Amino acid sequence: MKYAHSVVDLIGRTPLVKLNRVTEGIEATVLVKLEYLNPGGSIKDRIALKMIEDAEKAGELKPGGVVVEPTSGNTGVGLALVAQQKGYRSVFITVPKVAQEKRDVLRAYGADVVVGPTGVSADSPLSYYGISDQLAEEIEGGYKPDQFSNPGAPASHYETTGPEIWEDTEGKITHLVVGAGTGGTVSGTGHYLKEVSADRELGPVRVVVADPDGSIYSGGEGRPYFVEGVGEDVWVKNYDPSVPDDHYAITDAESFAMARRLATEEGLLVGGSSGTAVAAALKVAEGLGPDDVIVAVLPDSGRGYLAKIFNDQWMIDHGFGEVVSTSTGTEISV
Ligand code: PMP
Repeated sequence: MKYAHSVVDLIGRTPLVKLNRVTEGIEATVLVKLEYLNPGGSIKDRIALKMIEDAEKAGELKPGGVVVEPTSGNTGVGLALVAQQKGYRSVFITVPKVAQEKRDVLRAYGADVVVGPTGVSADSPLSYYGISDQLAEEIEGGYKPDQFSNPGAPASHYETTGPEIWEDTEGKITHLVVGAGTGGTVSGTGHYLKEVSADRELGPVRVVVADPDGSIYSGGEGRPYFVEGVGEDVWVKNYDPSVPDDHYAITDAESFAMARRLATEEGLLVGGSSGTAVAAALKVAEGLGPDDVIVAVLPDSGRGYLAKIFNDQWMIDHGFGEVVSTSTGTEISV
């Protein structure tokens, strides 16, 4: 019989699929890696598994332990899922502005969710970082993975995401295009792919960061933007600036328009940061020829953004262009 022994065994080994419509006029092959097919619905399942297994090995997480992390998003889902399967409780700390629905997802997995106060500075003990530090200490068996600094996060991508892309492209990948939030994906995947391709005739894989316009990674000042999960306003430990060769600053309007096109034209209902990655991949592709193979990583599903990116009124209200009707549905003209 062919079955997985636990849902945790289904993390990773996500497929690549070729883009066919949004790539019109482009000679290079553009492939996307579908991370929403992980059991928790995002790329973050990979780091959750690695960080928890590392903590078990190091004796930091023991039977009866509790995983405590300040997150409301994809990392929370991954940690809740892995913690539960391995017999640990999990507690997540969020801020009030986080949508009720996101907290409900974590609670649905059996996690506890603590909502901190608004309007406190990041270094206050009442910030969501502060509360998580305190809870990790006070709760017996508490363990805080800290995805921004935990070396297991980039290591999980070095050990899984990178090798999967290399094997599936049979070593033909020429460009990797990924977003960077905590930096784990670009640092781990990029490092692996550059290392394994270092001596080939084609030259090493070029690593491109698809960054929200305004984020510091692409030279911005850290001003706010709407796309979620990518970009930063401060430098974080797991972002290794020596890995990327290039950075493309992509506006919210470009990211969201591309996310919508991926849904209507490619059958891929993916989130805003996936739109950022593909928008950047197409810019990278402009100067390339038929032998080039670009792989863009699509971190999560569009299901979590139905009330925003995929809602025409929300798009118009936030100034992301006009909605125009097309033969395949609606499109945002930016
Ligand atoms: N996209 C989404 C939707 C995410 O949640 C994240 C994680 N913050 C990323 C992209 C970026 O991944 P990383 O943290 O590995 O840089």
